[in-house]
Amino acid sequence: MPELPEVETVARGLRQAILGRRILSVTLGKTDFIDDPAALEQHLPGRQIEAVERYGKFMLLRLSALDGATLVSGNGDAAPASLLVHLGMTGQIAPSPAGKPLEKHTHVCLLLDDGRELRYTDARRFGRIAYLTKDLLAEELAGFGADPLDVSEVEFVERICGRRARIKALLLDQSVLRGVGNIYADESLWKAKIHPARLGTKLNRKDAETLRRALQDILRKAIVLRGSSISDFLDAEGEPGEYQRHHRAYGREGKNCYRCKVAIRRAIVAGRSSYFCPKCQPPPRGFAMLPLHEKTEKKSERRDTERAENQHGRNRNSWQRPRTRLRKRNRLRGSTRL
Ligand SMILES: [Zn+2]
Repeated sequence: MPELPEVETVARGLRQAILGRRILSVTLGKTDFIDDPAALEQHLPGRQIEAVERYGKFMLLRLSALDGATLVSGNGDAAPASLLVHLGMTGQIAPSPAGKPLEKHTHVCLLLDDGRELRYTDARRFGRIAYLTKDLLAEELAGFGADPLDVSEVEFVERICGRRARIKALLLDQSVLRGVGNIYADESLWKAKIHPARLGTKLNRKDAETLRRALQDILRKAIVLRGSSISDFLDAEGEPGEYQRHHRAYGREGKNCYRCKVAIRRAIVAGRSSYFCPKCQPPPRGFAMLPLHEKTEKKSERRDTERAENQHGRNRNSWQRPRTRLRKRNRLRGSTRL
């Protein structure tokens, strides 16, 4: 699923492509991943896209207030608002000429004032879209941790050391740091020579600083290379990223470590497949890794990811609403279908 560098890449692409455009109308397909589909249809038309920001692993399209000329009666609140877009696992968002035939799994089309449509496609619909007023946005953003690109040495130490959780779990926890997922957690731990199963309490300040620098370095390089394309990720121009060619641990089970030539191993840490070098990243005492078993790697990774994504749905910092409730609510609302 897209992590910080992939989402940043899409956000930068959208900034180039749609900044300043006004939304004229909204057409929806399947809506079970949208918080309140009727709110999109009611409140988006007439608003201008004033900024595209990344927050952790999702994007915020900042929308203008409705001015008097475009204010449609009954639209309610005309104050500035935001559209949250989380790509989930297979979401893609990109502008397209309005006349172009729809790709399969297109679920949201925003007609823009230059004749293009901003289209959201998502085969598995693990993404999320939400129209957020100022209050809803504040509620949404409460409880997220620091952005790993900005976090200071002192804050990083405070957030990591002294925690009785595994470092891999801490890196993935969006209330500790926002934006890191499985790929960049494994890559930065490999670079910092820290085993994913070590406890936060067992890391000293020097370890923490080495990890912070490794994480920032890797995230910055990955942004330059427009992220990692593992399965479906494409940027806002429809191009895959290139950072997957620079992975040193993630997905490399059984392949030689780039530093010491020992085979990279895999273990389940924090409920996720975790890749590490057993020599460069010494495990804590009593730690068991999985036997080398390359063939099942992809399937098991997908299962782990799905399990973890589903768990996210129950967390406070969730980007995904419980789906059954949404489905029921959306059925009641009877949204427009494509
Ligand atoms: Zn090694």
